[in-house]
Amino acid sequence: MMTENKWRIIDKYYKEPSKMVCCICDEEIDITKDERFSSKDLFGSGELLRYRCPKCGAIVGPNKMLDLSEEELAEEYKFHYNLNVEAPNPEEEIATFMSMNPEKDRVYLDYGCGGWNAAISQLRELGYDVYGFDPYAPNDSEYIITDFDELRKKKYDGIFSHDLLEHLRKPVETFELFAKILKNDGKMVHLTACYNYVYEYDRFHLVFYTGDSVKVLCEKTGFQG
Ligand SMILES: [Zn+2]
Repeated sequence: MMTENKWRIIDKYYKEPSKMVCCICDEEIDITKDERFSSKDLFGSGELLRYRCPKCGAIVGPNKMLDLSEEELAEEYKFHYNLNVEAPNPEEEIATFMSMNPEKDRVYLDYGCGGWNAAISQLRELGYDVYGFDPYAPNDSEYIITDFDELRKKKYDGIFSHDLLEHLRKPVETFELFAKILKNDGKMVHLTACYNYVYEYDRFHLVFYTGDSVKVLCEKTGFQG
């Protein structure tokens, strides 16, 4: 079914809940009172409604995406990325990595590296020990981990990501995982435009790290910002 038709039917029957819980600080958001943001999905799913958390300031939603099951969301991703293959942009990803001042005898992780990643092979050619992790992108490279159990077996000196944070359904859980697999003196750098409310026309963007939300997320999971 085409995306437009599928979402027209979902929108017709979907009922926005009256309350939701902020995925960063757990505050209850009152959808009838708290600040509301509306935009139109550039990729065919109609209106996207999001809300600002009155406590930490994050902008979260749309609920119609958050309410999908893991399987339904995985289907959405598969279909979406088959249609809109993102051009590999290794330069930006390599610059993100370099901002950690990496050293060649240390181990690094590109979290959510995707299936089309050119940055990892280029960095490895330069002599950096970089692994990638992506559970949704089947890959037979020995340097790309696709399984959470496998990921937890190692500790890393640095973790970086590129256009990932805005896709997280449970940022606190992901940061708790980072805290477990990052060495004590390790570093993290996460590049995304969604520290501001931009690229809001994409339904796959589920959280914008506005207000105090980054600070709250770091404090909650034991990181220093
Ligand atoms: Zn919040």
